Amino acid sequence: IKKIGVLTSGGDAPGMNAAVRGVVRAALSEGVEVYGVYDGYQGLHQNRIEKLNRQSVSDVINKGGTFLGSARFPEFRDEKVRQQAIENLKIHGIDALVVIGGDGSYMGAKKLTEMGYPCIGLPGTIDNDVAGTDYTIGYLTALNTVIDAIDRLRDTSSSHQRISIVEVMGRHCGDLTLMSAIAGGCEYIITPETGLNKENLLAKVKEGIYKGKKHAIIAITELMTDVNELAKYIEDETGRETRATVLGHIQRGGQPTAFDRILASRMGAYAVDLLLEGHGGRCVGIQNEKLVHHDIIDAIENMKRPVRTDLYKLADKLF
Ligand code: ATP
Repeated sequence: IKKIGVLTSGGDAPGMNAAVRGVVRAALSEGVEVYGVYDGYQGLHQNRIEKLNRQSVSDVINKGGTFLGSARFPEFRDEKVRQQAIENLKIHGIDALVVIGGDGSYMGAKKLTEMGYPCIGLPGTIDNDVAGTDYTIGYLTALNTVIDAIDRLRDTSSSHQRISIVEVMGRHCGDLTLMSAIAGGCEYIITPETGLNKENLLAKVKEGIYKGKKHAIIAITELMTDVNELAKYIEDETGRETRATVLGHIQRGGQPTAFDRILASRMGAYAVDLLLEGHGGRCVGIQNEKLVHHDIIDAIENMKRPVRTDLYKLADKLF
């Protein structure tokens, strides 16, 4: 391996820049050249590829977003499009590609690997929905952002005896909602893992009011229901003012926390180690504090993320 490429794909996440920096600096220290691909698989298809040097990744370790840019590019499902992408990599003499993104991006990397082009996937998403790793890059930074928002909502909800519904990102994974609800002391947690039972929720909210609770904060994962309609339902049934807050893209931005910077740096350098050892078609994770790698195809097709029943039980006890 003499030349490697790196791209960021899918939804951006704080710490992606630190991961790219990790790849670039680790590769250069091993005498390997690095090429940055702009705007994910779209830029790969359009041959927007440039050589990176040490300075290309100066002053990015503390920055949110991704300086390489990211894109959603559904056309990458088309084999001809991927063939063109591989040809572009070959024009530059690039032997392997590091893909930083979520499970959708892993699918792209898996398909390239199946076509004979070696890829390494790094988990970069705030959703923490990637199999084979306890934490994804960006997740813990986003968690702090969500908690900050919940703390603010708590202040004002309490003053006005209001019920607040907070919609948290995560796609089909409830980790960010669950952890932020525990850390933010929310009264109710609704995630894809628990499901939404409106009657049950209403009964619990009414029980809280009966107990004399001044406020109620309901944390719910995105894509489960229309939160404004849910708020109206609860307000109509309880007579208490109920408001929904959709945190949205605020959760994606901001400076990465120390944990995410270190995780991203370690994973970036590890991806280079794996490529130099001759591995391809692997995805990197951290499990029980150790860096690990799995077959990217196996991770996507067979590995499941564990449901934290212990933490759901804890949450139930504490509310
Ligand atoms: P996040 O979940 O944080 O938004 P993600 O990586 O899961 O990140 P997606 O939009 O699902 O985000 O995927 C990113 C890109 O990966 C897609 O826009 C597309 O270019 C590529 N991709 C996704 N699925 C496939 C697939 N089945 N085959 C080839 N490429 C794919």
